[in-house]
Amino acid sequence: MLLSKLLLPTLKDSPQEAEVISHKLMLRAGMIKKVASGIYTWLPLGLKVLRNIENIVREEMDASGAQEVFMPMVQPKELWEETQRWDKMGPELLRIKDRHDRDFCLGPTHEEVITDIIRNNVKSYKELPLNLYQIQTKFRDEVRPRYGIMRGREFLMKDAYSFNMDEESLQETYLAMREAYKTILERIGLEFKISAADSGAIGGDSSEEFHVLADNGEDTIAVSDSSEFAINTELLLKEGEDIQSLEGNPSPDGKGTIQIKKGIEVGHIFKLGKIYADDMKANVLNKEGKASTLYMGCYGIGVSRLVAAAIEQNNDERGIIWPHNIAPFDINIIAIGYDKNEEIASASQNLYKELTQMGYDVLLDDRKDGYGTKMKDSELIGIPLNIIIGKQYLENKEIELKSRNGDSSTNPISDIKTILDFFKDK
Ligand code: ATP
Ligand code: MG
Repeated sequence: MLLSKLLLPTLKDSPQEAEVISHKLMLRAGMIKKVASGIYTWLPLGLKVLRNIENIVREEMDASGAQEVFMPMVQPKELWEETQRWDKMGPELLRIKDRHDRDFCLGPTHEEVITDIIRNNVKSYKELPLNLYQIQTKFRDEVRPRYGIMRGREFLMKDAYSFNMDEESLQETYLAMREAYKTILERIGLEFKISAADSGAIGGDSSEEFHVLADNGEDTIAVSDSSEFAINTELLLKEGEDIQSLEGNPSPDGKGTIQIKKGIEVGHIFKLGKIYADDMKANVLNKEGKASTLYMGCYGIGVSRLVAAAIEQNNDERGIIWPHNIAPFDINIIAIGYDKNEEIASASQNLYKELTQMGYDVLLDDRKDGYGTKMKDSELIGIPLNIIIGKQYLENKEIELKSRNGDSSTNPISDIKTILDFFKDK
């Protein structure tokens, strides 16, 4: 992609409206634009990152044996009345009417729709277990949308719903999802904790949250400094415990001491049990030929929120530092004098072609600007590797490599292998 052709409205200064670093940087890097409170357009650069995350999520969900579906955003009131959630959800549920005066809502989650599909189409235990997922837009009329897409009203979620015959089978699917979520966050390259959580409006027997540790996180979690133990303090408060007394005390699992950290909730997995299936009469015939109520689990990942979480964990005073697997481009070729010098232009075009053919996603900065402006922009948008073609190329066919992490080296342009090795190690 030629940078001169890319819609990339970068900003020098942080807009007033942004409080947290990820929101500031997403606006400055030209990734998103606000349309209304909590409602954003994803511009090309932002969308590339969002799609990279989405693809990792999809690959791991498919690998876990889940099947992809795509449910509607607009849902009829009748389904939500079956679970009493039409009333229970309160003002977070955006209600709308069609031209026939029928009631609908914009889906904040999809338990009702998916359970309706299963009860109408699955008849026997032989067809189970099933785990269905989608990557789809949700709408929640949040009381306080903030931090850009971190807490939006319209946002992208991966939601999966499992249907199982019994508790053991549910436990198996739940653990498979737990593993898939770990792999997803490891592949994205984030530091996270899995914490026991309050099940909130979704309900159910028990749930765990996946938290990306970051100072701007909205959740407060108690974590052990030397084991996997972690618990959302929301749950502690609900159970009447005293958070203050936990700080610095030995971890309840006997390993290490407790520290209080801030976390961004990027995933939430629930063992729902029979609550929805009971309300919606979702049952199938068991081995004995008797109707048996289904066990359910539901598993959510905030796909769009993950973009913000990744930035909160990976940035410096110059901009975003994308983990490689989700970067919008792998390499930025910074061509100095592209518009004036034939030799620079053709060398950078050739390198662009070569790297693209090797499978890299490459940006070529062909603009008239000088080195300073180009490098500043590249650092702001967080491209992992810069290749500078300029004076040194004209003098002795050398290019400079500069990784976003601060490493640099100078190599002959013919030495593409070194370029890639350099890239791989960083
Ligand atoms: P929160 O406590 O942050 O409101 P939640 O418990 O209501 O989240 P779930 O219903 O479990 O969220 O939804 C699954 C995932 O969707 C969450 O873990 C989170 O990553 C994401 N998510 C929820 N609400 C929003 C939102 N308003 N904006 C962006 N992502 C969201
Ligand atoms: Mg919520």
